[in-house]
Amino acid sequence: MAENKKLRTPIVCVMGHVDHGKTSLLDKIRGTAVVAGEAGAITQHIGATEVPIDIIVNKCGQPQLINKFIVPGLLFIDTPGHHAFTSLRSRGGALADLAIVIVDINEGFMPQTIESLQILKRFKTPFVVAANKIDRIPGWRTNPEKPFAESFKNQSENVQQLIDTRIYELVGELYKLGFNSERYDRVTDFQKNVGIVPISAATGEGVADILMILLGLAQKFLESNLRFDANNPGTGTVLEIKEEKGLGTTIDVILYDGTLKKGDTIVVGSLGNPIITKVRALLKPRPLTEIQTEEKFKSVNEVTAAIGVKIAAPSLEKALAGTAVRVAGSDNADEIAKEIKTELEQVTLPTGSTGVAIKADTIGSLEALVNELTKEEIPIRKAGVGDISHRDIVEVAAIEDPYYSVIIGFNVSMLPDAREKIQSSEIKVFMGNIIYRLIDDYKDWVKKQKE
Ligand code: GDP
Ligand code: MG
Repeated sequence: MAENKKLRTPIVCVMGHVDHGKTSLLDKIRGTAVVAGEAGAITQHIGATEVPIDIIVNKCGQPQLINKFIVPGLLFIDTPGHHAFTSLRSRGGALADLAIVIVDINEGFMPQTIESLQILKRFKTPFVVAANKIDRIPGWRTNPEKPFAESFKNQSENVQQLIDTRIYELVGELYKLGFNSERYDRVTDFQKNVGIVPISAATGEGVADILMILLGLAQKFLESNLRFDANNPGTGTVLEIKEEKGLGTTIDVILYDGTLKKGDTIVVGSLGNPIITKVRALLKPRPLTEIQTEEKFKSVNEVTAAIGVKIAAPSLEKALAGTAVRVAGSDNADEIAKEIKTELEQVTLPTGSTGVAIKADTIGSLEALVNELTKEEIPIRKAGVGDISHRDIVEVAAIEDPYYSVIIGFNVSMLPDAREKIQSSEIKVFMGNIIYRLIDDYKDWVKKQKE
């Protein structure tokens, strides 16, 4: 039976407002494992870091738990940005199995915190809240790398109270967004309550607790999602397109199912027709011990999910981040290409003959924007990836309905010739990096126009 229980490594995404500590937490998770003298065990991937289960349970001082968990570890996506989550798409949803929402305990919720939570709610992704920067709480006595409970015991009553007050405020904010939550050590049922873990990404306090809760969530809620078969054709998502010296255009991919081999035919999403090409090389980062070597990457013959890998192959120039990569068999590449194209068209094709025009920086963020606008019953005439161009302006200028003579741009800028053109037009442009703000601004504007 044990064989059937093979689960792949859950993929974890770190989300939250800028400067609240996403990068620091990832650095800490990596650094901690290295400091623990287990540098060999932690695996650096392209675009991700894998922390094996034994490091996590040891770090938590509970090595006996190693047999309790059946996931092999956790794979943290290394592109922390508040769009990483939506940009990492998989068929029918988000790529990440789990998330950490990080919030500065001294600042509380900010727009991107709220946006992150709304996204997680829509995708029903299990997550934990990291209340970061507890070391900045006045009077905090630092206990580097210790679990939260241990460090908390060493604090004065004042500090303990202050922490609880702050957590209570977070509980209130979460409640407003439809989540019941509690300090994690008071949560009895993680299915009903979100755990809030006070941490310091700077000192490492509470970081072990976060890892442990993520393991628990994976085990409890994801078992069926994580079951996988290495014999399946490899399936992944394009994280980034990168030019590499001597390799040409490469794609960094997170593989979340099956196996990918050198020489495989793959189909990769693109704005036009999907690309059908052959894997020339599969590349992994060199281990730290080989850092002196000239070449940054090490070539391997095959990789199995979940893993981050760089693919070198011809014709990848037009690959699109956030789209699918799938291994094709001897005769089904065209069929897969058609499927990938249809998936993309569900996001980019106009939903109505009239409506607003939208632009976003990635296919994933465009999808998020389409979803939110649809929920608000705001029709979309045209949806595209990229900065606002001269052509966008010309097209929108031809729309007669003033409420739809509008461009909503999410996380994009306006190209200079578009800027010039817009001065001589009646078009209204909304630009920003928070979806719900953009939508509120548009709705407010429409309301004003109607008055
Ligand atoms: P990101 O924008 O969410 O990736 O945030 P960063 O990880 O870049 O952190 C923003 C700033 O906060 C940096 O100057 C960090 O050194 C600092 N910072 C992050 N976590 C902590 C923490 O736990 N304690 C303290 N004192 N500073 C922190
Ligand atoms: Mg950062």
